[in-house]
Amino acid sequence: MTEERTYLGVPAPRPRVAFFELSSCEGCQLQLLNNEATLLEFLSLFEIVRFREGMTGGTDDYEIAFVEGSVTRPDEIERLQIIRDKAAILVALGSCACFGGVNQLKNRFNDLDWVKKTVYGDHPVETVEARPLEDFITVDLKIYGCPIKKEEVEHIITDLVVGKTIVHPKYPVCMECKANENICLYDLGEPCLGPITRAGCDAWCPENRFGCWGCRGPSEGANIDQLYEIMKTHGFSSETILDRLECFGGFQDFTDSLRKQPEK
Ligand code: SF4
Ligand code: SF4
Ligand code: SF4
Repeated sequence: MTEERTYLGVPAPRPRVAFFELSSCEGCQLQLLNNEATLLEFLSLFEIVRFREGMTGGTDDYEIAFVEGSVTRPDEIERLQIIRDKAAILVALGSCACFGGVNQLKNRFNDLDWVKKTVYGDHPVETVEARPLEDFITVDLKIYGCPIKKEEVEHIITDLVVGKTIVHPKYPVCMECKANENICLYDLGEPCLGPITRAGCDAWCPENRFGCWGCRGPSEGANIDQLYEIMKTHGFSSETILDRLECFGGFQDFTDSLRKQPEK
């Protein structure tokens, strides 16, 4: 840790942090630069030594590494290992890093060569199945969401810097949705994964009349089987439900086994 300073009388050093991106849209890093009202105060929490979206140059002398994106190329495995070796704390930033995110949708195609040809044509890129970071390295902390929610990240990073235990919500998005007094989207004929998805986004999508797509992965004790049955009774097809569950990769264990079963 570098500079000595205090926060409410408690020592609060400014750790050196670096941001990295593997295969991603870089929307999670962009989220950190949004919300100008708190940006300067937020950035004062740490000393940024590498952040491609926000600065030029940089060094590899860091203590905390935030890694966005999933592994989809062989060279990214090596790069990720180097980042892990240098960092005291490695944070998976966003759904791509935590679950594979939207990148893992390509894993649904049986013929990866066909995918490469269709996407890259005559300019092939060496790619592999999209995987989350923890398939290759130890991840110390996950920050969920596609994209991450700036307000939540500010809380988490503040806790990290002052050494507090970080506790993610265990309850589902429905809790936040009902606390915000929304009409349930099922009553309006729309699907929503709020009952099984980890809260923390303040029911971002239902708040704006969009059903939850499960970008933050399962809440603790999520009864996915039961929600599947409920969605069926609301008239949604297995394919519609699977499309939604598979979008970000957080429910992969469930969807993999469901795809192997015949249509219920
Ligand atoms: S989690 Fe979403 S917003 Fe973040 S990098 Fe991946 S695709 Fe982009
Ligand atoms: S709209 Fe979605 S998140 Fe809100 S209460 Fe209904 S199922 Fe839950
Ligand atoms: S409501 Fe669902 S899909 Fe939308 S941000 Fe929250 S967890 Fe993600």
